[in-house]
This record gives sequence, structure tokens and C-alpha cells, in this order.
Amino acid sequence: MTKITRIECIRTRADGMWTIVKVHTDQPGLYGIGSASDVRHPETVIKAVETITPVLIGRDAGLIEDNWQCVYTSGYWRNGSILNTALAGIDMALWDIKGKEANMPVYELLGGPCRSAVPCYAHAGGNDLAELEDDVRRYMAEGYDVIRCQLGAYGGGGFLEPAQAKLPKNAWTHGRVFDDEAYLENIPKMFDYLRSKLGFGVKLTHDVHEHLRPQSAVQLAKLLEPYRLFFLEDVLAPEQVHWYRLIREQCTTPQAMGELFVNPHEYLPLITERLIDYVRVRVSKGAGITQCRKIATLAEWFGVQTAWQEGGDNDPVNQMAACHLDMLTWNFGIQEENHFSAAELDVFPGHAVLEGGYLYPNKQPGLGIDIDEVKAAALLDAEKARRPTIYGEPDRRADGSIVRP
Ligand code: MG
Repeated sequence: MTKITRIECIRTRADGMWTIVKVHTDQPGLYGIGSASDVRHPETVIKAVETITPVLIGRDAGLIEDNWQCVYTSGYWRNGSILNTALAGIDMALWDIKGKEANMPVYELLGGPCRSAVPCYAHAGGNDLAELEDDVRRYMAEGYDVIRCQLGAYGGGGFLEPAQAKLPKNAWTHGRVFDDEAYLENIPKMFDYLRSKLGFGVKLTHDVHEHLRPQSAVQLAKLLEPYRLFFLEDVLAPEQVHWYRLIREQCTTPQAMGELFVNPHEYLPLITERLIDYVRVRVSKGAGITQCRKIATLAEWFGVQTAWQEGGDNDPVNQMAACHLDMLTWNFGIQEENHFSAAELDVFPGHAVLEGGYLYPNKQPGLGIDIDEVKAAALLDAEKARRPTIYGEPDRRADGSIVRP
């Protein structure tokens, strides 16, 4: 039996947004690492890990399912974002330990790979159509087969400048405002332009980031049908997922959803009723490898594929956990890419390698990734890490009401 003796959290990246959990054991030199990053609430997640730790000290690190269930029910209330993230960090670390003990990569331990590498999709963007086309072509030249297309930041294509918008005389906002009709006008035009320039040989996606009202989401999915998207991402907010039934009745545009999901009740009906085509839970927000593997297996029986959320604020350990799941999951669909600097990757020896549109894990035992704690500390800017981060200034409609991000 390998006993859990100590659990610690290591914060890194300049702004401290990455939290890596390290689980120590009573076996000399044997430990595992996992991702518990939460860009908005890093200190809250660390506190949750500290609260959970006494539940696990002295337990057998090899009882992964039992340890997972123990932590899952340890707070009585469950399926929240913070507890899931803390649990994921521990869960990944326990798989890392088990793989090291078995002298196998986690993807070997869980059944073996069913692909030689992991296809990823790239994030192309531009402030106008020509800029976007250039960016798509750049990724095509790099070898990407699937490319996400955005007109600037999230909601891009749907913003009106103050002069164009019909603002009230007591307007709360004097900047640009979001308008569903503008989005419905401009995004189909964007794909019309891209298809006319690039043809249908390249696979394209688009992320709505939940900006639209539900009825507009149905309209957009239908309007985009002629452009044969690989998928349309987060066209609805998590609170409005029942509208997927109406989207399915209206069009064949494939749907990807889930980066905000934390509770199985959010994705279960979408999978079992075949209302989405790709489930996009973030591995750490889905409570780790143990639970995400179950999501993947469930999805297989309903013809739904995985597209674990990455990009943005994710860290290289979470990317590696997703990469192991991608390697071993038959119904894997596509993996979102990440953008890490050389200095950031230098903190994580053994990190997955992204090259020519494919992500490659290594053949080392466990997750195959480690953390260099000296470099992790050097990368962290303690002053920046102390500043609270919220989800920026909200986008607003002309009447001042907030658009859900
Ligand atoms: Mg997204």
C-alpha cells in the first residue's frame, strides 16, 4: 500500500493563475501532480484543497475511485466549481502516482492509446475579414485541419459603436454595445467570406461565448448551416440548454457545449438526448480524469464526441490530463489548443508538445509531466498574484443590461 502523506499547492505563472497540486506518498521520491487552476478564485481552491487534505492523509493512494468518492461527498454539498477543481488536482495526481508505480503512461494504464497523436484546433482571429483570413491561412500552413474563426474578441461582429447604437439619454454605457441583430448579420457574412476565399477543404468552428439570447442562438445555428461548420461552440448559456432541442429541430449545424459545466445534470441530458455533438467540459472543472473518463464513455454510447476545453487560462498539467484522455478515448473528437510561452513550458518538464496541429504526449510513466518548483517560483510575480481577478468589464446592450459571457 502506498500511503498519502502530504498534499501541497504550488502557484505559478506571472499572475499566479495556475495552481498545481502535489500529492506526496510514503514511498521514497514518489509523488504525483495535478491541475487545480482557477483563474478567478485561486486562493479559494487552495483553501478547499487544504480542507480536503485531512480526509486523504494516511489513505491508500492507489484507491483512486474510492478516494474520489470520499472527497466528492466530504462536503455533503457537491458538484460545484471550487470543490470539483480541488478534487481534480488530487485525482490527476493520484493517476500520476499510479502510472509511475505501474511504470506506464496513464493512457496505457487505462486501456492503451487508440490514436498516435491528438489533433487540435487553432484559434484564428482578426479585427476584419482580411485579417481573419490571413490568420486562418497561417494556421492552415502550420498544418491545422480545424480552425476556430472569431472577429476580434468574444462577441466580435455583434458590437455597435456608440454612434450606431440607439442609446437612451441616460445611458449607462458610452462604449460599444452588443446587439443580437448585428451578430446575426455579421457572423454568417464572415463565414460566407471565408468559404468563398478558402473553399470547404478546411474545417471551421466558431465560439459564440453565450452572448446571444436563446431565440437568436437558434437563428444563428440555422443561418450558418450552409457553411458546414465543424461545430458551433457555446451558442447558448448553460442556463438555456433546453433550447438545444429547438436548434436540433431547425438545422444540422453541429453543436459543442460545456466549458462552463460542473454538474453532471448539466451535460447528462444533452448527451443522452443527442442534443450536442461535442462535450466540452474542462477536465479540472469536471472533477478530474476519473469523472471525465466516465463522461467520455457515456458519450460514446450516444454518438457524442469529446472536445475537452483548453486554451485561455488552462495550465500544461491540465492540458496533459486532457491529452491522456484524448489518446485513450475512441470517441475523441478534437482538442482545443493552448498558448504557452517558452518560459512557462520550461516550468513543466515533460509537457505535451504541440506541433503541426497535433499534440504529442511522451511515453514516461504517469502523466509524464513534472513541475520545476524553482522555476515555478521564479515565474510567479507575488504582487500580481495578490490582485483579485474578475471576468473583466461586462459587455452590455444599448439599454445597459449585461450580456452573459
Ligand atoms: Mg470557448
